[in-house]
Amino acid sequence: MSVSVPARLIIAIDGPSGAGKSTITRMLADRLGYVNIDTGAMFRSVALMAHRAGIDPQDESALERLCAGLDISFDRSCGGCRVLVNGEDVSAEIRTPEISLLTSIVSTKKVVRGCMMRLQRSMGERGGVVLEGRDIGTVVFPHAQVKFFLSASVDERGRRRFEELRARGEDVTLEQTIAEVEQRDRQDLEREHAPLRRAEDAVEIDSTTLTLQEVLTRMESIVMERSSLSES
Ligand code: C5P
Repeated sequence: MSVSVPARLIIAIDGPSGAGKSTITRMLADRLGYVNIDTGAMFRSVALMAHRAGIDPQDESALERLCAGLDISFDRSCGGCRVLVNGEDVSAEIRTPEISLLTSIVSTKKVVRGCMMRLQRSMGERGGVVLEGRDIGTVVFPHAQVKFFLSASVDERGRRRFEELRARGEDVTLEQTIAEVEQRDRQDLEREHAPLRRAEDAVEIDSTTLTLQEVLTRMESIVMERSSLSES
C-alpha cells in the first residue's frame, strides 16, 4: 500500500556499500509510488562492459568511448529490478566480486562519472524518484528535497554482503567479504572525483542495529515532514 505524498520529490539515499541502500530504496519508492534508481547498477554496468571489451580501467579515452555507446536502462515492468545494457539483462553478471572491485576503479574516472551523472539527471529531473548511490545528494542532485545518508558498521555491512553472496551460491568467506567491503570503502572515500561523503543537509541513519522496517518508518516520517515543508 502506498502513502500519499503530494509533491513529486527527488529523494537521495547515499552511503557506503552494504548499508542496505538497495533494499530500502526499493521499499521507499514502492511506498511512495515513486520510481527507484540504483545508480550503483549503472556504474557496475560500465565496469562489466569494460571487462568484456578488455578495456584497461585506467584508459580514460577508451572508457569515454565505451560509455557513449551504452544504453543503460531499468526494466520498469518489475519496478526497476533488472538493469538492461543495450537491451541485455546484465543484473546477475554485474554483482560478482570481480565486477564489484572493477566498478570501484572505473567509478573513480572523471569521464565515467560525467557520463553517469548526465544519465542520472535525465532519469530523475522530473521528480517522483528515489535514487541511491554515493554522490546523489552532493553532486548529482545537490538540490534534492530529501537526502539520507545510510550507514552501518563495517562488520555488519560485511556480514550482510556475505549472506547475500552465499545465498547466490558464491564461494566466499566472511573475512574475505569484510576485507572487500573495507577496500571498496577506501576507494570510494579517497577518490578524487565525487568521493563518498555525507551532504551537510542529509539525515544520517545508522542501520547497524535497526531492522529494514525501522529504517523505512524513519525515512517515511522525514519524507512526510519535508513534503509538507516544500508545499508551504
Ligand atoms: O551501490 P553499489 O555497491 O552497487 O555500487 C558499486 C560501486 O559503484 C561502489 O563501490 C562505488 O564505487 C560505485 N558507485 C559510485 N557512485 C554511485 C554509485 C556507485 O561511485 N553513485
